[in-house]
Amino acid sequence: MTYYGGKSLRRYTVSNNSFSNIPARIDRLGELAENLWWSWNPQARMLFKMLDRQAWKDSGHNPDRMLKSLPRDALIWASRDRNYLRHYDLVLSQFDAEAYPGDYLGSPIAYFSAEYGLHHSLPFYAGGLGFLAGDHLKECSDMGVPLVAVGFMYPSGYLQQTVDNHGWQQGLTQTVDRESASINQILDTEGNQIVVQVPHIRPVLRAALWKVAVGRVSLLLMDTEIEDNPPWIRDIAKQLYTSDKEQRLLQEIILGLGGYTVLKEMEVAPSLLHLNEGHPAFALLEAIRGLMQQGLSFDTARERVRGSSLLTTHTPVPAGHDIFPEEMVEKYFAPYREALGLDRETFLELGRHPEHPQAGFNMTVLALNLTGKCNAVSRRHGEVTRQMWQPLWPDRNPEEVPVGHVTNGVHLPTWLEPKMRLLFHRYFSDGWIKEQENPAVWEFVEEIPDFELWRNHFWLKIKLLNYIRQLARRDWTMRRSADLLPALGTMLDPSVLTIGFARRFAMYKRADLVLRDPDRIKRLVNDNWRPVQIIFAGKAHPADDEGKRLLQSVVRMAQDPEMNGRIAFVENYNEQLAQYMVHGVDVWLNTPKPPLEASGTSGMKAAINGVPNLSIPDGWWLEGATPTNGWTIDSRAEEGSDQETRDNLDAAELYRLIEQDLIPAYYTTSEDGVPHDWTRIMKESIKSVAPHFSARRMIKDYLRFVYGTEGHGR
Ligand SMILES: *Cc1c(COP(=O)(O)O)cnc(C)c1O
Repeated sequence: MTYYGGKSLRRYTVSNNSFSNIPARIDRLGELAENLWWSWNPQARMLFKMLDRQAWKDSGHNPDRMLKSLPRDALIWASRDRNYLRHYDLVLSQFDAEAYPGDYLGSPIAYFSAEYGLHHSLPFYAGGLGFLAGDHLKECSDMGVPLVAVGFMYPSGYLQQTVDNHGWQQGLTQTVDRESASINQILDTEGNQIVVQVPHIRPVLRAALWKVAVGRVSLLLMDTEIEDNPPWIRDIAKQLYTSDKEQRLLQEIILGLGGYTVLKEMEVAPSLLHLNEGHPAFALLEAIRGLMQQGLSFDTARERVRGSSLLTTHTPVPAGHDIFPEEMVEKYFAPYREALGLDRETFLELGRHPEHPQAGFNMTVLALNLTGKCNAVSRRHGEVTRQMWQPLWPDRNPEEVPVGHVTNGVHLPTWLEPKMRLLFHRYFSDGWIKEQENPAVWEFVEEIPDFELWRNHFWLKIKLLNYIRQLARRDWTMRRSADLLPALGTMLDPSVLTIGFARRFAMYKRADLVLRDPDRIKRLVNDNWRPVQIIFAGKAHPADDEGKRLLQSVVRMAQDPEMNGRIAFVENYNEQLAQYMVHGVDVWLNTPKPPLEASGTSGMKAAINGVPNLSIPDGWWLEGATPTNGWTIDSRAEEGSDQETRDNLDAAELYRLIEQDLIPAYYTTSEDGVPHDWTRIMKESIKSVAPHFSARRMIKDYLRFVYGTEGHGR
């Protein structure tokens, strides 16, 4: 594998995941399995599936694991099958064209993030922030934008969730199987895994390097679970977003300072540092220190770094902004700040909020102080962010605060269901996926007969319900307890109007808003002719008892016989379940408390698959809603009104929409059984959202407004 970095391209090797049983004619299957490009290319996925459908399913759609378990016979068969070989040759030629490091000689953008959501076999994510990072990398690969990403290998991922019979969330220990995922050690010339040491920090912190190939983009992951570290250090990064403050600080020290060291080790000379949220902000210090080693003063180096770095901020919610006690920061940073030539006060001042200097060392403040550009993730979030951080620019009005926005988008090839994609293929003009941000391309949705669109959607809905039942069955046979079974979705019915709600169980997302009036919801789910069913999924942060109580109240409702088995809570929301849900429910519900939803992306994933949104006017939906592509829950509640009043008003408007708009549109069908009013909304949803809320449009915006065109892009 080649890493780009200035003109001194230097060769590194990665550990060869041995697939010794693959016949020579098809031996590049191993290489294909080791690059996540396969995950967003339906034909590449088919190549694995064709080998053995059952083994593909058993592996959890993980080709690395599958290839290692497959009997040689199956592979020999494939290597002699003409049809298989035709597919193989085609996919490999596409792979060579789309997934190989190009000949960029310019310096890449270095992207830093605490989490990456790429595939469920790499559980290094908690929610939207991670998926945004993952989609960012995939789209940069597709567009040929030179980018190298840095992050963490969390040996225990985030949280493997189950709920007990009382509806209380439990975390199971999960261990990432490094051997059976698209992930490889980075080796030096002697064949040893490369280990970096975080500079000037006591105690000594070391991390070994792994690589995830994301098409053309390399994601470099640091792993502290190595023998070179003393036992208590090994566990520092066991889990993403640990609630232990000190451990969290150490994680962020490694992410920032260690991450920057990784770039140096790989001889990557970045043209730009892009921080995805404040967690990796220490990287900016290390960039400054690097320039100081070349003879610059702190102030000059700081200005230089400001000119070549940017922060994307993702949330107005306080828990998204880490604050550490100053003594704790000083304890670890004393030798480091001396290397920067800074005294204690000057250093700590970099992380002090001007209005709350006592609060501690704020990572977002640090990032804002040292980066030249900052962007929010939707238009509304831009306004909220300028207001929120105005104190850092005391002589400016909020609207003059230098924070812009790039509205989030989703990676189309990842989130568009393959059958939907095939359907579009049949009716769209050639090359439509390459022109995906052109609205004219999507007008061809109008050519799809309602009947065909509906049949496709119905098939995806059945697929979702089958998947949920399969999960429930496995759960039941393992736990042998039936108490929870009705709540897990075993009684869901594909003919019923199905509302989906899945995201993190953070309080501001108000998962229980739709259940706020139990009598009203009972009537809706018990209607004989035109019932409604609701599928919930999502995790509460392990330290968030309030979130867990919220989750419990949803599970309790689902367990209540009076709810008729029509409310379901599906455990362990992850990338795989998200795929099934955004493809298969009828409508996607989002009920955040404004203005706290910075953007939200799951609604975009649903919309491009013909699943319309039913959403509070907040985040991306303020830009995405049209009068005909879904429903806006606009109760006209005042933004400052108290929680109780707001919730009541929003819930009342939500029920009104379900009863008066959604139910009639869904249940009024023509003789062929097609609800034409509904398919109209599905079509509007696809064509209004797909061209404007794709990662393609997002990356183009970053190139244009944030990265600058100098030296980047095609
Ligand atoms: C897209 C996605 C999210 C983010 O959803 P929001 O609606 O933006 O909160 C979270 N988790 C998973 C698994 C996702 O796929």
